[in-house]
Amino acid sequence: HLTETTTLANGLEMPRLGFGVFKVSEGNEVVNAVKSAIEVGYRSIDTASFYQNEEGVGQAIKESGVAREDLFLTSKVWNDEQGFNETIAAFDRSLNKLGTDYLDLYLVHWPMKATYSETWQALGKLYDDGRVKAIGVSNFEIPHLKELLKDHTHKPVINQVELHPQLAQKPLREFCKEQGIQIESWGPLGQGRLLENDILKQVAAKHNKSTAQIMLRWAIQNDIVVIPKSTTPERIKSNTEVFDFTLSDDDLKNIDTLNKEERFGGNPSEVG
Ligand code: NAD
Repeated sequence: HLTETTTLANGLEMPRLGFGVFKVSEGNEVVNAVKSAIEVGYRSIDTASFYQNEEGVGQAIKESGVAREDLFLTSKVWNDEQGFNETIAAFDRSLNKLGTDYLDLYLVHWPMKATYSETWQALGKLYDDGRVKAIGVSNFEIPHLKELLKDHTHKPVINQVELHPQLAQKPLREFCKEQGIQIESWGPLGQGRLLENDILKQVAAKHNKSTAQIMLRWAIQNDIVVIPKSTTPERIKSNTEVFDFTLSDDDLKNIDTLNKEERFGGNPSEVG
């Protein structure tokens, strides 16, 4: 069910399926998309200052009529906003645009070599001050995580990374599991590039589902949080219809054969 949650290491409940708004334009496009999503039952919204649509996300939340405390709102500090004071200021800007006085989850968007440790300290302060319910990271590889884990006061509870059947991130998933860090997938549909894959089509036909639904279900059954993006109301809805069927072990193994540990997006080790 859409209200299914996972319990993060600090006890916070997070929906297993949320709505992503990367490349959804500020203004009507994002307002309409987020309102459609909330209407069909999404309660988790993933944005970032980089997406430049936080005002529209905030407006959609207000117009949705759903109480703020019933929503799970994520934003991220962008690369050129990193550093201790800079991050606190970026967080204030995000809250202001979103029209809320707290976030459920705030993430370091990318591990900028020179600044991500300081940025992490700032997220720790925001958490201690009760301004955000959970803190985490995005696009962090094992070495970046090891660096942060030296700070025992604050552990990231989430790592949001590119993850789909072609990039299953097996070593990173194993490391995060050991450390109690929930993995969240961005680009769960391969950013649209895996929709026509033959193996996914075969599994989809067997279950009378779409390839998008198969990829989302594959992630959910692997304990991965997903945040697919769409601006089409029918697709926004169909992406939620992934709790009424189960992939068999054979289906899962079949989908696993697509893994090449190959990215479509940027390489975190080459950033910053
Ligand atoms: P995605 O894998 O969610 O794919 C989105 C694409 O698939 C869109 O082009 C959409 O039109 C298409 N699509 C969606 N549902 C479909 C359906 N049912 N049938 C056919 N086509 C469909 O890619 P994404 O948007 O890049 O990733 C999801 C979210 O992850 C983003 O919106 C954003 O919130 C987050 N994200 C984070 C980072 C990061 O660095 N942390 C990077 C990229 C994305």
